[in-house]
Amino acid sequence: MKDKLMIIDPHIHMTSRTTDDYEAMAAAGIVAIIEPSFWLGQPRTQVGSFQDYYSSLVGWEPFRASQFGIKHYCTIGLNSKEANNEALAEQVIELLPLYFHKENVVAIGEIGYDDQTPAEDKYFRMQLDLARELNMTVQVHTPHRDKKAGTIKSMEVCLEHGLDPSNVIIDHNNEETVKEVLDRGFIAAFTIYPKTKMGNERMVEVVRKYGSTNIIVDSSADWGVSDPLAVPKTASLMLNKGISREDVIKTCYQNALDAFGKNGKMKEEHWLGNKGIDQRELFNDNSVLRGQEPKIEGDKIV
Ligand SMILES: [Zn+2]
Repeated sequence: MKDKLMIIDPHIHMTSRTTDDYEAMAAAGIVAIIEPSFWLGQPRTQVGSFQDYYSSLVGWEPFRASQFGIKHYCTIGLNSKEANNEALAEQVIELLPLYFHKENVVAIGEIGYDDQTPAEDKYFRMQLDLARELNMTVQVHTPHRDKKAGTIKSMEVCLEHGLDPSNVIIDHNNEETVKEVLDRGFIAAFTIYPKTKMGNERMVEVVRKYGSTNIIVDSSADWGVSDPLAVPKTASLMLNKGISREDVIKTCYQNALDAFGKNGKMKEEHWLGNKGIDQRELFNDNSVLRGQEPKIEGDKIV
C-alpha cells in the first residue's frame, strides 16, 4: 500500500467556505493552503473593511483552519478589481506593509490585471516595487478576458520592475499561456474550475505535455461555483491516467511549497509535526463549535 499523498492548495478563499469544506479537504489529504486576499464580490467602500479582512486572513481564518487540521497561510495585496477605486486604493496601499511581516504571510497577492485599466496598472506596478524592495514572492492573478495578452503583459511588467521570474507565480493559466510562462522562467499555476475552463482532464494533459517543473495546481475556490477539492481530485485523476507519482507530488504539493516557502514562513514541519486537532482551543474567546463535543486528536507524534 502506498502512503496517502499530502496535498497543498496554494489558492483558495476559505473565508467564503464552510467547515464541511475544511473537513472534506483534510480527509482528501490537504495539509496546507494559501488564501490570497482578493475581491469579495461586494466592492468595499472603506479602508477599514480591507483592514479587518486582512486581519482575518492573519488571525481568525488560520485559527479556523487549525481546528480542522489544516495549516493556513495567506498572501496580502490590493486586488486588481478594487484598484479601480483610486481614492480607496491609495489608502489600502499604505496599509499593506503592516501585514507583510505577519507570520503566515507568504507573498504579495493576488495582484495583477482584471480589465487592464490604467488604475490597475498603476497599483500593480506599485506593489511589484514593494515586492522587489522587500524581496517577497508575488502571486499574479491573470485576467479572464483577453487572457493571453494580459498574461504576457503581466510578465513583462514584472520584469520591468526588476523581479526574478522564479519569484513570481502567474496564476489562472491555460493551454494558450503555459508555454510563454514557462519559457520566461515564471511559475505557472493552473486553476481547476468545475465544468468549465481548465477542467482537471485538461490539467492531466498539460502535465503530460509540459512535465511537472514550475507547474502548480490550485482550486481558487471562493464564493462562486468552484470546488475546494479540485487539487486532490486532479491528483488522483493524474495518477489514474498514468502520470508518475513524482510528477503528481511536484504539481500538487512540492512546487507550491518551494515557490511560497522562500521567505521561510511556510514549512513542512508545520504539518508533519502537527499535534492534531484540539477543538477546545479558542480565538479571542470564540470556538468553531456550536455546542458540539470537541474533537481532540491528541499528540500524533509517536
Ligand atoms: Zn483568487
